[in-house]
Amino acid sequence: MLRVESVSAFYGAIQALRNISIHVSPREIVTLLGANGAGKTTLMKVISGIHPPAKGRVLFSGQNIAGLPTEHILRLGVGQVPEGRQIFAPLSVIDNLTLGAYVRFQREVRGEVFKDLESIFELFPVLRERQKQRAGTLSGGEQQMVAIGRTLMARPKLLLLDEPSRGLAPMLVSDIFKAIQTLRTRGTTILLVEQNAKAALKVADRGYVLENGMVILEGETQDLLNNKSVQRAYLGREYREVWE
Ligand code: ATP
Repeated sequence: MLRVESVSAFYGAIQALRNISIHVSPREIVTLLGANGAGKTTLMKVISGIHPPAKGRVLFSGQNIAGLPTEHILRLGVGQVPEGRQIFAPLSVIDNLTLGAYVRFQREVRGEVFKDLESIFELFPVLRERQKQRAGTLSGGEQQMVAIGRTLMARPKLLLLDEPSRGLAPMLVSDIFKAIQTLRTRGTTILLVEQNAKAALKVADRGYVLENGMVILEGETQDLLNNKSVQRAYLGREYREVWE
């Protein structure tokens, strides 16, 4: 579905991505791990069209989308939930969600959109209760749910999730990961950036480890969980103790 081939990207003189190649197959959940500044967000931005690559190709369903405008890429089926949520604070929850479907309004009847709203409410039941509330007055976790729901309303073929659990209380983090599990059973294809490596490796099928803008390791999640350097760098104490 997605094939990133030898992509390099810069911010002025700073090289953020060096010859990166990754792929995501239909119905897979793939996670990107890496320390701060490794290039994970930049890679997501290159895929969604927010940041143009200097070199390389981004093939989505066989078409090179590198450098296309974000809206065009969204219409082709790549939906990004941005880091930091970026919801419309003065609008109600339901208006935020419905706005996510604007790319579809021309081609589909409204009934379809309302059906999808129902499936978002099944995914995040608290949003059903809060549907009339102004989105800006929601808790951080609920706002994250609105941001994910809004992106899903565009019915993306590939969902890009950039740090969905950032800054959330542990209970809400588990709600978000439960929702990711549910999306998996619905067959959604996901590329996930997450600081919480343990949780990410639990839901994902495969992962890539980025360092200094390069892929330094890739594999099935079970292999990554068993990898000593991954354990040392990303999985915390209890994993370390098993090995040392
Ligand atoms: P984090 O987890 O901190 O978001 P990351 O792995 O997502 O890290 P990126 O945000 O992609 O990493 O950053 C990759 C490199 O590009 C870093 O060296 C960073 O300082 C640099 N960078 C990112 N955004 C900008 C920007 N807008 N201007 C200049 N340099 C940037």
